[in-house]
Amino acid sequence: MKKFSVAEMARAQVEKAGRAMNLSQAFRQIMMCPKRVLRVIFPIKMDDGGVQCFTGFRCQYNDARGPTKGGVRYHPGVTEDEVIALACWMTWKCALVDLPYGGAKGGVICDPLKLSERELEKITRRYTTEIMPLLGPNKDIPAPDVFTTSKTMAWMMDTFSMLSGYTEPAVVTGKPEVLGGSKGRKEATGRGVAIVTRELFKVLKKPLKDCRIIIQGFGNVGSYAGLFLTQMGAKVVAVSDASIGLVEPKGFDIPELMAIVEKHKSLEPATIGKRVERDEILYQDADLLIPAALENQIRADNANRIKVAMISEGANGPTTPEADEILEARGVHVVPDILVNSGGVIVSHFEWVQALSGMYWEESEVNERLEKKLVRTCAEVWKRSQEMKISLRTAAYVVALERVNEVYKYRGIFP
Ligand code: NAD
Repeated sequence: MKKFSVAEMARAQVEKAGRAMNLSQAFRQIMMCPKRVLRVIFPIKMDDGGVQCFTGFRCQYNDARGPTKGGVRYHPGVTEDEVIALACWMTWKCALVDLPYGGAKGGVICDPLKLSERELEKITRRYTTEIMPLLGPNKDIPAPDVFTTSKTMAWMMDTFSMLSGYTEPAVVTGKPEVLGGSKGRKEATGRGVAIVTRELFKVLKKPLKDCRIIIQGFGNVGSYAGLFLTQMGAKVVAVSDASIGLVEPKGFDIPELMAIVEKHKSLEPATIGKRVERDEILYQDADLLIPAALENQIRADNANRIKVAMISEGANGPTTPEADEILEARGVHVVPDILVNSGGVIVSHFEWVQALSGMYWEESEVNERLEKKLVRTCAEVWKRSQEMKISLRTAAYVVALERVNEVYKYRGIFP
């Protein structure tokens, strides 16, 4: 069986949609390649007095539709291949929800759980300085991703502003509100996961009430997705993070779990539910699985052990193309990442618009606009999948690729 790298996985998904919609070979070729990838290596003075070199990346995958947009990830497993795949997915996500952006992504190879706040600040400021030539509110706009937060964005914004000689709030999104961050941004990705899931349950005529949910990864996306879905009547019966898995058939109290993670940065000290091996939660008896951790979690070797009828991809790239086929053959509905977790970039766009205009919106306005955009996009993807008899993932790619292809028709290929 072929083993895919994540960038190959992203390209395989584009290929599949490209075939379904008879895209020209020339356009397919353009869509397979990142426009720009920068690798930086920089030294940091650590708290113990020693010096350590760190490697970071920033990839701008495609900017045909506008400035590039995408998060920055801090994780020991970051690779150039992963950053390219994530930037590729950002390109389709922004096009799918019709934002005037191209796709980008960044990352630094490090273990934030083993670094002090002072070390993290130095890494962030130096990484920002190294990728500075790529950044700017009309060029490339970072946001938080795995193990980066609003504080990381504040350091990036301040570093960019200091090096530019003026304050530029629109250069990052996901910043604290006091620096021009948008109301509702912190919860936006999880809120979007809940809205998209609710919309798909509606068209599939499934009740959300008492639906049993498994959530893999209880960080920003997983915890807020759980919170909003339980408010809609569902129950979260299993959760995991990088440390452990917890199972509670009666359903967890999500704010209680969030308070534990807020205090300890981990589910490890939790004394509620039954403790299981971290990955065992994937195979519990339930109706819906929300992977909200990392890529490559649902693969050919474990797809058949998954019992749920529907998967809402909160994380980027949690399902490999082989697993997709296995799940499709079994009739499991996989709602794709570029749709499910697009709430984050949608509200990031609202934040950018607010920062550029200097006019700030009420939270109700942010949430209403988010809801409207997601409901419309869900209907579009569902309709396309029904008309073309294709999976929801391929349908989402078809809508996104059509939008990017349309831009190339007018802009042409330079020179
Ligand atoms: P986060 O750092 O807030 O949380 C990640 C969670 O995953 C943590 O609880 C961590 O302990 C857990 N985790 C890590 N490895 C794990 C493993 N092997 N098994 C189980 N849990 C594991 O990150 P986040 O912002 O919530 O991002 C999660 C996913 O959602 C990523 O794929 C990210 O690219 C995607 N995403 C995030 C946003 C956003 O706005 N934050 C937007 C779109 C997509």
